[in-house]
Amino acid sequence: MNIHIITAFPNLLRGPLDESIIKRSVEKKIVEFFIHDLRQYSSDKHHRVDDYPYGGGPGMILKPEPIFKCIESAIETYNITSSEIIFLTPQGKKYSQAKAKELVERENLVFLCGHYKGVDERVRDYWKMDEISIGDYVLTGGELPALVIIDSVIRLIPGVISDLDSAKTDSFYQGLLDCPYYTRPEIYREMSVPEILLSGNHAEINNWKQQEAFKLTLKARPELINDNNDNVATLDSN
Ligand code: SAM
Repeated sequence: MNIHIITAFPNLLRGPLDESIIKRSVEKKIVEFFIHDLRQYSSDKHHRVDDYPYGGGPGMILKPEPIFKCIESAIETYNITSSEIIFLTPQGKKYSQAKAKELVERENLVFLCGHYKGVDERVRDYWKMDEISIGDYVLTGGELPALVIIDSVIRLIPGVISDLDSAKTDSFYQGLLDCPYYTRPEIYREMSVPEILLSGNHAEINNWKQQEAFKLTLKARPELINDNNDNVATLDSN
């Protein structure tokens, strides 16, 4: 998978891309990153990419010119299309595990990170990008949202984490929250591990895990169950 990130603040990305699972996925040549620095596409002698908003008001706006030129250059240089560009914005469709499963099927991911008060609206009008929000709160820039999405997608690529089945039992993958987990010691501060987990009976253990996942979801995120008819069927059968 080729991942392109268009940003005015490339240094915000370097640390997280150079650690842990993301770093390993690059070393294994499963993923390749291309960071496009918007300032290199600014015709301003100080490489400024922002300007004051027309009509006044607080905050600065990312200018259209560096963004247009950067996107055009990326399309010309790499095998990507404008329909693959994802604009990170709190006004976008809310990100979910279902979207991560959809994105992992793509060959290219292209992220455009906004910053300051936002981007010139003509960028959105012209490029008609897929718009994603990572939640109903506002961050300083699109770099952290891009990293959040990248991390959640990369871990679903076969070969990235040692056991893909582990990702498939994580919260949201099947529509429920994950079940509780325990490790050694068997008793810690007088708190015991549930006996069933020590039984060696894998069928019963799996059944217990499913029921616990269901109970946790019902308690913490009941709307997940209401949103998913398959899960309601599971509730009935338990
Ligand atoms: N004025 C914008 C608004 O209220 O919709 C917010 C601008 S925000 C300070 C700057 C940039 O951070 C945005 O252009 C976007 O790229 C990114 N951003 C902030 N919050 C985000 C979120 N929840 N999801 C995705 N991107 C976000």
